[in-house]
Amino acid sequence: MKKIVVIGAGASGLVTSIKASNKNNKVTLLEKNNICGKKILITGNGKCNYFNEDFNINHYHSNNIDILSNIITKENKKLILDFWNNLGIIPKIKNNYYYPASNLAATIQNTLILEAKNHNIDIKTNTEVLDIDYINNKFIITTNNETIECDKLVISSGSKAAPQTGSDGLGYKLLSKFNHTIIEPLPALVQLRSTGSFLKEWNGIRTDVKVKLYENNNLIKEEEGEIQLTDYGVSGICIFQLSGLVSRGLYNDKEERLTIDFLPYLNISSRKELVEYLNNRNNNLKDRTITELLEGMLNYKLINIILKQNKINNNKHWNTLSNKDKLNIVTYLKEFPLDILDTNSFNKCQVCTGGIPLSEININTMESLKQKDLYITGELLDVDGECGGYNLSFAWLSGLLAGINISGDNND
Ligand SMILES: Cc1cc2nc3c(=O)[nH]c(=O)nc-3n(C[C@H](O)[C@H](O)[C@H](O)COP(=O)(O)OP(=O)(O)OC[C@H]3O[C@@H](n4cnc5c(N)ncnc54)[C@H](O)[C@@H]3O)c2cc1C
Repeated sequence: MKKIVVIGAGASGLVTSIKASNKNNKVTLLEKNNICGKKILITGNGKCNYFNEDFNINHYHSNNIDILSNIITKENKKLILDFWNNLGIIPKIKNNYYYPASNLAATIQNTLILEAKNHNIDIKTNTEVLDIDYINNKFIITTNNETIECDKLVISSGSKAAPQTGSDGLGYKLLSKFNHTIIEPLPALVQLRSTGSFLKEWNGIRTDVKVKLYENNNLIKEEEGEIQLTDYGVSGICIFQLSGLVSRGLYNDKEERLTIDFLPYLNISSRKELVEYLNNRNNNLKDRTITELLEGMLNYKLINIILKQNKINNNKHWNTLSNKDKLNIVTYLKEFPLDILDTNSFNKCQVCTGGIPLSEININTMESLKQKDLYITGELLDVDGECGGYNLSFAWLSGLLAGINISGDNND
């Protein structure tokens, strides 16, 4: 019988263990927390957005996107969904986002633990892996409790994201011992930090916007959705979707700037057109102050901020403004500039961008190309997905592919 050890009972480690165990394999799962799947519990605000109907390569980032695209396929979508259906999870699908019908992340966690127990996996909680070696074709794993030997080793210990759930980045150190390179892991799906006197004033506002991300003055991505304006900068799903690119850009000393369109519902592209629109509005509304004119279009706090930023008195009537002032106001309404100085830290991010390059593994099995019988799954790899269930989808998929390969049963 082969001895298999999986380090980390998170999303991908639990799935790997379940799939790898069979009559020829004895699987031991090592977890430093006192429970398995701690991070799963906080996913999707406690509801666990575990998959997305639009399982598509366009929703992923990796330095080897071409390699990743080999496994983000219709067949593997079925593989993931069959896995969950067979475990009895009934999905509730909202705007393509999958949640368990119970609306509870604990359902996903409990189901995985139950299945692991049904497969007689030896789950050792409160067991922290400290080091690994490879001697005489065996992996030697040193933990806080004991030393364990195995024939095949899976490292599923997660990234540096949300270290309070257990993932503190040890996997990168362990893998560098086997000559793996590491693309610096950086926070992604995270809030962005800026500076400015107006931050205190806009703190707490939530509004629908279009956001553009500029890197060294070149437009690199656009997003649309609800933004949360905070006293340190900006948050919200549309910001999270841009945050991995911002992290990488800042790390590479690039200038990162957002522009925020506070009037996304107005289909007006040029500043001149918007001035004309406001001139007409002012005529129709019988000559108003700027604040009165913009009331009804956006949050009054934002109106005050925009006027202050442009040093314009808010009691002034729109029709008394110079053309230059009008153009400045519409610029801030449609392209409010925000220099991004930093992201929030690993404690606040949902995932990491970066990790072990996919060029160093066999993408169909997750086996290392540097070390035979060593497997890597989940977020340790250089894959990060957008919000919407894509990160858990990759965790499940990498666990399924590794587990199926280890079990030697490719038809399972
Ligand atoms: C707040 C939050 C919300 C999220 N929401 C979603 C969502 O709704 N949908 C989605 O798709 N993704 C979501 N994610 C991302 C998703 O949870 C992760 O991508 C996924 O859990 C990664 O799985 P993993 O197996 O690679 O690592 P993890 O789930 O992090 O598991 C790693 C495990 O290894 C253990 N470990 C680490 N080091 C050691 C060691 N030395 N010895 C023993 N054990 C060790 C850890 O304790 C941990 O249990 C969210 C993340 C966060 C933080």
